[in-house]
Amino acid sequence: MLIDARSLPSGTTRRADVCVIGGGAAGITIALELAGSGLEVLLLESGGEVEEPDTRDLAAGESIGRPATTLDSPVRLDQMRLRYLGGTTNHWAGFCRPLSPIDFEVRDHLAVSGWPIGPADLEPFLARAAEWVRISDENFDVATWEERLGLATPKLDSAAIDTFTYQLTFPTKFGELYRRDLLDADDVTVVLHANVVNLATADGRRVDGLDVRTLTGTALRVEATAYVLAAGGIENARLLLASTDADPAGLGNGNDLVGRHFTEHLQVYAGFGVLDVDPSELVGYNGGDVTITAGRHAGSVHGAKFALGLTDEHLREAKTTGMEIQILPSSFPAGAPVQEEGATMADVAALLGHTGAMPASSVYLQGLAEQELDPESRVLLGSATDALGMRRVQLDWRYSARDRERALDGYRIAAEAFGAAGLGRLQLVPGGIHADALADLVPGEWVSAYSSTPSEIDLENFVIGMGFHHMCTTRMAADPSEGVVDADCRMHEVDNLWVGGSSVFATGGVATPTYSIVALAVRLADHLTTVLR
Ligand SMILES: Cc1cc2nc3c(=O)[nH]c(=O)nc-3n(C[C@H](O)[C@H](O)[C@H](O)COP(=O)(O)OP(=O)(O)OC[C@H]3O[C@@H](n4cnc5c(N)ncnc54)[C@H](O)[C@@H]3O)c2cc1C
Repeated sequence: MLIDARSLPSGTTRRADVCVIGGGAAGITIALELAGSGLEVLLLESGGEVEEPDTRDLAAGESIGRPATTLDSPVRLDQMRLRYLGGTTNHWAGFCRPLSPIDFEVRDHLAVSGWPIGPADLEPFLARAAEWVRISDENFDVATWEERLGLATPKLDSAAIDTFTYQLTFPTKFGELYRRDLLDADDVTVVLHANVVNLATADGRRVDGLDVRTLTGTALRVEATAYVLAAGGIENARLLLASTDADPAGLGNGNDLVGRHFTEHLQVYAGFGVLDVDPSELVGYNGGDVTITAGRHAGSVHGAKFALGLTDEHLREAKTTGMEIQILPSSFPAGAPVQEEGATMADVAALLGHTGAMPASSVYLQGLAEQELDPESRVLLGSATDALGMRRVQLDWRYSARDRERALDGYRIAAEAFGAAGLGRLQLVPGGIHADALADLVPGEWVSAYSSTPSEIDLENFVIGMGFHHMCTTRMAADPSEGVVDADCRMHEVDNLWVGGSSVFATGGVATPTYSIVALAVRLADHLTTVLR
């Protein structure tokens, strides 16, 4: 059932077994996984079914740390997460990959690392998560995907770098895709335009109820046996910090960890390359489509593509962080980009013996790099307030010179392996490449929109964009002095409050997060069913 909070009389109290805050990827998955479990579920969503400017403004805030950009264009906080049914899946790019085993390990060379669960704890939920995100299945094995796509990918003779598979789902907007299921579920009620502004508590050990407001002035109370906070990686922290009934530091924040360790995938736009092989040999990096053969979405089509990534073995040995690199077909003019040393595309092509007209065989490199967790990188509350009187977010995103160096090292390793395999020459041009028509870029399509500005090549200060994968702000840890939630995603300090979404990630890794967010959501729904029945 779908109802609108604005149509309820002010002062109404609604009750449920489970109340989920936020109707994005995590919240919708949890609510629908609980459907039919015998538990009465309320899903409170701040927005309606389409984007509305007044609600969007509730997500606005201030960036006070590293600038949030995509390439070199600034991105506002209310652009990088969406506030209506379906949440940020209303404009995600749909890249799916599971976390790697190393992401879960304690890595002594990092200041903060290690999950209290391992890959085997998530593995039983990956097949159901694959259905929810609408990809073929939980199999990401490269050989399987070469067969399914009918596309080979060149093998690199390197222990440090290997080929990985992404499954791409498009456009998988959870609100639109699962609207019918939410309507049909007898025991799930979605309340739209319901903004949670406070998790009310007398003693800080239990949530007694939620204070809910609409922008039209309706005030509601919601009471449940169990609460799940699934409002997104930034808003989860904001709501906890803003819930000060028992402690001015916020709810569940006795160890001053809520909002800390904010981490991102560093988007690094680093270089270009000229191929020494026919571009068709690398077409797997651009990907292809497959039809889903079984399950809820049988018959629908989705994509898959390959990318390069540092191997877990290399990360352990070199004591470094993760890095994935996409090789995107492109076409640069012969005179550009220009490397720091002055080499143009034509010069690089000449190294490979190409003379005369430039071959239509250039590529563009774009990577996602893991950053090391830093407690000073964090979500804070500012002094400005929104239309509901809640303090707006201040985002103090930090990354270090070491993070930057590690990302560049990843590119160098990729370039060496690429050259050694005889595929072509990759050149690093960090900071010197711009996407001219970013709005037109569609994942999986050939891209020819890049230009370069040689004077901006800067190995120490090159532009790093944000991946928009806000993680670790309520990180999972066995020890309450190291994290906010336990291995079951339950708040260490609050008995009846669980958290969904990438805020519970213990480290960011390098895989795009939503597939893992959904796997954790499926796991959490099973856990709630067990403990509440
Ligand atoms: C441009 C872009 C591209 C992306 N591409 C990818 C990709 O390719 N692969 C990938 O894995 N991830 C990608 N992501 C990230 C992905 O969108 C998120 O990981 C995912 O949407 C997070 O799910 P969530 O449910 O935790 O949060 P969200 O989807 O953000 O949902 C949170 C929901 O909570 C609601 N809410 C917030 N506050 C309140 C409140 N106080 N009361 C009630 N409701 C509230 C919001 O309205 C929203 O509906 C991308 C993100 C962006 C911005």
